[in-house]
Amino acid sequence: MKLKFLGTAAAEAIPALWCECEVCKKAKALGGKEIRRRCSYLLDDDTLIDFGPDAYWQSVEFNIDLPSIKRIVFTHSHSDHLNPVDLFWRFSPCFSFVSKTLTVIGRPRIFGRIIEHAGAAGVSDFDTLHLKRVPAVPGERLLDGDLELLPLGANHDPHSDPLVYVFKRGGKSVLVANDTGWLSEESWKLLEGVKLDAAVIECTCGIKGAQCRDGHMGAETSVAFRKRLVESGSLAPDAPVAVNHFSHNGGANHDDFVKYFAPHGIEVAWDGFTLEV
Ligand SMILES: [Zn+2]
Ligand SMILES: [Zn+2]
Ligand SMILES: [Zn+2]
Repeated sequence: MKLKFLGTAAAEAIPALWCECEVCKKAKALGGKEIRRRCSYLLDDDTLIDFGPDAYWQSVEFNIDLPSIKRIVFTHSHSDHLNPVDLFWRFSPCFSFVSKTLTVIGRPRIFGRIIEHAGAAGVSDFDTLHLKRVPAVPGERLLDGDLELLPLGANHDPHSDPLVYVFKRGGKSVLVANDTGWLSEESWKLLEGVKLDAAVIECTCGIKGAQCRDGHMGAETSVAFRKRLVESGSLAPDAPVAVNHFSHNGGANHDDFVKYFAPHGIEVAWDGFTLEV
C-alpha cells in the first residue's frame, strides 16, 4: 500500500489563517514543508481518508482524479476532516456530471452533517449525490472491495464520533491514528494481535504540549504510543512510523520536529510525503 499525506495540519492549518505567532511567521518565511494544509490522506489510488476544507487544492496539487476515487473513509465529523460543501457539488447534473457512486464510510454524525448541508439546498437524499453510506462500528471489521478496515474508538471529542483505523490490503496493514489522545484500554486490546506494517501517530500538541494525552497527543506521548505498539508485538521495531496532524500551538516547526523524533525512529510527515507500507 501507498499512503500519501495530502495535508498534515490540525484545524487552523500552518500558517494558521489569522495567526501572528512565531511558528506561523517562520512557516510563512520558509515555505516548503512548513506549509501544512488540513489533514487527509490518499491510500493507493482509490481511497481518500477524510475530505476537509483543502480537498480541492489537494486534488489539483497532487493530481488526484476525484471521479476515480471509490471511497472516502472518515475519521470523525470535525470540520477540518469533513467539508460537506464540496461533497454537495456531486449534485448531478446540476453542478457536476457524476455517474459513479462514491462510498462514504464513517459513523452516523458524518452522514448527518452531509445531509444537513444538502438539505439546506433542498436535497434530502444520498442517492441524488451518488453517495452510498457504509456505517463503521468500533471494533467490527469491515470489508469494502479488497480493502479491509478495522475501526477503533478514539480518545477525541465524543460529539464528533471519532475513530482511528487499521487499513489492510494485499497482506499489509497500516494504523492511521490522528485526532486521538492515548487510546482507551478497550481500543488497545483490540489492537493487540493485529500485525501492523506501519503506523501514523498524531502529534497535535507538539513539543510545547509534549505530555498532552487526552483528546490529542504531544510529542512525548506520540513516542510512548509507538513504544506501546512495539512492546505489544503489533509493530516491528524497524517498521515505518510517521507523526502527523500538527498545530502551530505545538510551538515547533518542521525541523524542530525532525530533530526531536529522529532518535525515536519516527518520521515527520509533510504535505506530499508518502509512507510505503
Ligand atoms: Zn483534526
Ligand atoms: Zn500561529
Ligand atoms: Zn478533531
